[in-house]
Amino acid sequence: MPDGVGQKTGRNAIEISGLRKTYAATGRQAPKEALKGVDLAIAEGSIFGLLGPNGAGKSTMINILAGLVNKSAGQVVIWGFDQDVNPRQSRAAIGVMPQELNIDPFFTPRASLEVQAGLYGVPKAERWTDELLALVGLTDQAESYTRNLSGGMKRRLLLAKALVHRPNVLVLDEPTAGVDIGLREMLWANVRRLNEAGMTIILTTHYLEEAEQMCDEIAIINHGQVVVQAPTSALLGRMDGKTMIIDAGGRVDLPALPHGARAEWRTDGRLAISYPPSQIRADQLLDALRGAGVPIVDVGIEAPDLEDVFVELTRG
Ligand code: ADP
Ligand code: MG
Repeated sequence: MPDGVGQKTGRNAIEISGLRKTYAATGRQAPKEALKGVDLAIAEGSIFGLLGPNGAGKSTMINILAGLVNKSAGQVVIWGFDQDVNPRQSRAAIGVMPQELNIDPFFTPRASLEVQAGLYGVPKAERWTDELLALVGLTDQAESYTRNLSGGMKRRLLLAKALVHRPNVLVLDEPTAGVDIGLREMLWANVRRLNEAGMTIILTTHYLEEAEQMCDEIAIINHGQVVVQAPTSALLGRMDGKTMIIDAGGRVDLPALPHGARAEWRTDGRLAISYPPSQIRADQLLDALRGAGVPIVDVGIEAPDLEDVFVELTRG
C-alpha cells in the first residue's frame, strides 16, 4: 500500500490539458485523430471512471498516461510531475493494468513481478512480491508458468504487475470486460481496498452500472473528446428515469398512477411504466396496480445505461 498519500487533499492526481493524438497513416490506413484536445483533472484519492464507446479514445489516453504511446500535443501532469519535464517521476507515480493480456508466458507469476519491480528500480528490500501475490489470489500459482494460467489468473497477474512500485495512481483499462463474476468481485474488492489506503484509481468500463457503483466521478469521452465530466451522482441525476415492465397477462384497464409516471402498452403486450425513481418508488407503482386488481404475472426494471446517457447528452 502506498504510504504518505492523503485522501481528498483537494489536489489533482492527474492534470491533462489540450491532449491530442493522431496515429500516423499506415499503408492504406488514413491518419487517425484519436484524441482531439482533451482537458481533464482527476482529484487525488478518487475512483474516477472514464467511459465511452469502443474507439472513443480511452485506451489511447491511458496509454499516453502510462508512457506507452507518444502524444501529438498537449500537457500531461501526473502527481505534480510534467511528463515531458520529469518523465521518471511521472512514470513512477502511475501503474497501469492494460486492456491486453501482455504477459511473458515463460515466466512464473513470481518472476514476472520481480522483473517488473526491477524495471521500475524497486530495491529488493522494498519489494512486496508475496503480499502482491496474496492480494490478487495467486499465492498457489506463484511458481507456475504463466502460459498455464487461466485468462482470469493472467488478469490478476496484470493487476499485481501494475502495483509493484506502489504507485500513487492505479489505472485499469477495461478490467472487467469479459471476466467472470468471481474475478470481477476480486478486482473491485482490491480497488476499494487500495483506494481506502490512499491510492487514486482511474478505470475505464463499458458498464455504467459498474461505474455507478464504483466511481466518485465520471468523464464520458466520445470521438476523442470529453463530452462531460461530473460527479457520478450528478451525472446519474440527469438520468432520472427508469421503466417498469409488467406482464399483466394481456391488456387490462389501468388505474391512475402516481404523478410523474407514464404508462404505455408495448407491441409485445407488456406494460411499460416510465417513472423518475427520485420521486416515485417501485412499490408505489406496484401498490397502485395491485390495488386496482391488475394481475402482475411478471415484472422487471429497465434502468438507463450508457447509451441513454449519450443520447441524453448529445440531445442537450
Ligand atoms: P477505446 O479504448 O476508447 O476503445 P482507442 O483509444 O483504443 O479507443 O482507439 C481510439 C481510436 O484510435 C480508434 O479509432 C482506433 O481504431 C484508433 N487507434 C487505436 N490505436 C491505434 C494505433 N495503434 N494505430 C492507429 N489507430 C489506432
Ligand atoms: Mg480501449
